[in-house]
Parts: sequence; structure tokens; C-alpha cells
Amino acid sequence: MKITGVKGMNDLLPAEVGRWQQMEATARELFGLYGYREVRTPVVEHHALFARGVGTDTDIVQKEMYAFEDKGEELLCLRPEGTAGVVRAFIEHGLHVEGPQKLYYLGPMFRRERPQKGRYRQFHQIGVEAFGTAEPAIDVEQIAMLDDYLARLGVKAALKLNSVGDAACRPAYLADLRAWLGERRAELCDDCNGRIERNPLRVLDCKVPTCQPVLARAPRLLERLCPACDAHHRAVTAGLDALGVAYAVDGRLVRGLDYYIRTAYEFSSDALGAQSAVAGGGRYDPLVETLGGPPTPGIGFALGQERLALILAAAGGPAPVRRPEVFFVSADEAGAREALVRAAELRRAGVACDLDARGGKLARQFKQAERVGARWAVVLGAAELASGQAKLKDLATREETPVALSALAARFAPAAR
Ligand code: AMP
Repeated sequence: MKITGVKGMNDLLPAEVGRWQQMEATARELFGLYGYREVRTPVVEHHALFARGVGTDTDIVQKEMYAFEDKGEELLCLRPEGTAGVVRAFIEHGLHVEGPQKLYYLGPMFRRERPQKGRYRQFHQIGVEAFGTAEPAIDVEQIAMLDDYLARLGVKAALKLNSVGDAACRPAYLADLRAWLGERRAELCDDCNGRIERNPLRVLDCKVPTCQPVLARAPRLLERLCPACDAHHRAVTAGLDALGVAYAVDGRLVRGLDYYIRTAYEFSSDALGAQSAVAGGGRYDPLVETLGGPPTPGIGFALGQERLALILAAAGGPAPVRRPEVFFVSADEAGAREALVRAAELRRAGVACDLDARGGKLARQFKQAERVGARWAVVLGAAELASGQAKLKDLATREETPVALSALAARFAPAAR
């Protein structure tokens, strides 16, 4: 029986992987420019971390976790998101004592959702967390960094921004929102109805078309922020204006979890269809304390790499691939032996090169050179070894020029070009 991959968990094949390497290299480079440092945490964590850190009321914890008992001893799970693990590591290793920390991570996350375009069961996120700064300047800097990141990749995505208030202004609003939604139960979908008591803010986020006109009229927290939240929100918008980052304030944008306060933001793209969010972020000042650490403000975002890859692919252009500069073609056994030596020499000099280790007919070797997209071919055989001269064939124009074997590495070494 043929064994296939697991539903919702994708292979990433060489033709596509260049785009992923580009996303990751750009993140590492740019986030480094902003002072963020990489942290790597395990894929497996205690189930309790997410029960507490993401919330037992959420779809993620209730329905989507890959949880298992490890030999009947502990309840563990595959991480469904990155923040809780980073916060755990932050607390466990006492990083808070060093002062504010800016961290980023990349890696696979697991949620047992119904797979569709842009939604998978194993997916990959690039995320950042900034700990220890309550001031709005860090919100501005982080949002601008994400904007910068998308721009570097040539991605056009719309930024929505909101404030979800805090413990001072949200409870009274939630009570009013519950009452308001409660009067419109008949007009709202089952999911909305289920959330009115548990998590009324999430109702505002419902994407079901029939709910939209109702929710468009719902009371907005943005108009009822307490003075501190209002000042924070104004500082964030002013900061983004100063940096020239375009955004739209959207009073219905929420982050579904209780510990999110104040700034909530999201980048979305029309290229994605129903799952339009590329990245979501927000401020979660109470989280570190909730997970047993000292009170420490925090703000972060997570970006979905599959969705970013979809946007990049839709924007056209093949994924970047590294092509060999030089392809060695061997005319005989002596040439084949020399090709291995010369290829090693060029690679030491930083030149990408390849050869067809099967040897055999020249035509087949040239075909292989073209298939891998090599720029130049060099034919080696007993005659070339005897004369110390070979032909360098430009595989684009088919022109041939002589080259001394002793000069090959210098001809192609990056420093020489
Ligand atoms: P979240 O952690 O739910 O706030 O999601 C942050 C980002 O991760 C989203 O904006 C998506 O780009 C991506 N994402 C979340 N869930 C999935 C999924 N099941 N499949 C693919 N991407 C996802």
C-alpha cells in the first residue's frame, strides 16, 4: 500500500523552497536591523501551557490541538502557535532581568483545522515578540518593521489597526456588547450565538456574510476607550503617520484572547481569498504574568508563511533557485576524474558548479546541464588534460571560448568578477 502524507500537512518541494528561503533570509536580515534576536523553542510543549496561554475557551485549545499522553505520564501537544512557548522560555531562563527583549522565531505550528486554501494543519509562522516595553513607540516600531518586511518582499497588504482597550474600559463595553448581541441572536449565525457569552469580541470578527450587516452596526470599543488606552492608540497612529506607514483604523478588528489589550493589528491581502490575513499582531501585557512570570508588557505578531508564499506566487515570477555557474561535462574517464577535482576547486572558491556523475554520452550530459540551468559548460577529457586547455561553452548563446584549466577558478571566483 502506498503511504501518502498526512492531510493538511504539505511537502515543500525544491521548485518552491527558494521563496521560503527568501522569506526567511529577509526576516533574519531585517529583524536583525531592528534589534530582534532569534529564539528557538521546542515544537512539543506541555498542554497546560496553551490551555493557560491561549485560553481554554478558544477553538485552538478546544478543538484543534494535537495533544497526546507521553507514555501515560504527561499531557503534551504540538504547539499551535509560537507566543506561549517563547513566553515560557522567556520566564524559565529569566530573560526579563536583562531589560527589554526583542525576539523572533520561525517554524512549524500545528492546528487540526479543516484544510482549505491558506489553511493547513501543519503551517509555518514567522513571529516576533517584544517584552518589557509598555510604551506605544514599540508598537509603532514593530508594525513599521512588518510593513517594511512585506515591502521588501514586494508584497502589497493592507494594514488594519484597532485598540481593544484594557481592564479599565473593556468590561463595561463587553457587558453592553453582550446585551446588544443578545437582542439580535436570530440574525446571527450559530458560531456567533455560541460566542456571545464566552467571547463577545470574537463575534465582531465573524466572516459569515449574513452576520456582516448586523455586526457593522455593533457598538465600538474604540469610541469608549479609557483615557490611557485612548492616549496609547493616538500615539500609535501618530507614530505610524510620522513613519509614513499606511493603515486603516478598523473598530471591528479583534484578537480573540482575553489577555490582548490596546493595540491590535492585521495585514491582509486580496490575493488570498477567504483566508485573507497574512499576519496578525497585538499587545498582550497580562500574558507573562498569566504564565507565572513577573508582570512584563509584551507585543508581538505572527505571519503565516504559506499565505505569504501564495501571495508571492500570485504576484508572478518563479521562485528563486540557485543555478550552477559551471557544469563539467566529461568526455572520458580521465575527464570524469578531473571534473570532480575541478568542481571541488571551484566550490572552494565559492562558485556553484555541478556535473553529471553518471557520465556517459556528451549529449545527455549537456541536457542535464540545461535542465539544472547551468550558465557555462566545460568539457574535460584526455585531450584537454594533455593540453591544459578546455572549451568554455556559453549555454545561453552556444558560443565557445578557450580557457586554461589553471585559470578556471580565477575566472569564476566571485572576487574576480
Ligand atoms: P494566529 O496565530 O491565528 O493569529 O495567525 C497568525 C497568522 O498565521 C495568520 O494571519 C495566518 O497567516 C497564519 N495562520 C494561522 N492559522 C493558519 C493555518 N491553519 N494555516 C495556515 N496559516 C495559518
